Amino acid sequence: MKVDILSESPEDEAAVRIILDAILGRATESTGTKRNPPAGWGAVRQNLPPLMRAMHFNPAAAALVIVVDSDDSPIHSPEHDEPGSIAPRCRICLLRGDVKRIEQSLRPVANRAPLQTAIGLAVPAIEAWLLAETILTRLKPTSCRTRRRGSLE
Ligand SMILES: [Zn+2]
Repeated sequence: MKVDILSESPEDEAAVRIILDAILGRATESTGTKRNPPAGWGAVRQNLPPLMRAMHFNPAAAALVIVVDSDDSPIHSPEHDEPGSIAPRCRICLLRGDVKRIEQSLRPVANRAPLQTAIGLAVPAIEAWLLAETILTRLKPTSCRTRRRGSLE
């Protein structure tokens, strides 16, 4: 399954690929579409239009996964989705708007479903997701030991 990942660094993209493959239960691979090196939030938004256009016309491309760090931006909330709501700095809302505008600019391809897209926001950063795994792994023996102790008392 060809899935491209767009994130803020090569390391972030590699981490998201591992997480994505674990969620899907199968290995995914890039379409190999050439683009500028990932280098932060601004580069994600610059790479998005040409990457989506290339993937739109690539029959092997199944999906695009975009994951960015929230950093100091507002966290997306359901209120942002209400009509008339404006969240000018919310990165989810900004990326959704970018994806929608790009999709509207592309002519449909016969006998082909539109490119699937997924947008994720790591709060405050992808590094926190990676540390969560480490923290959970370290806590597991302690919580097991606590339960055992509790059952003896
Ligand atoms: Zn939002």
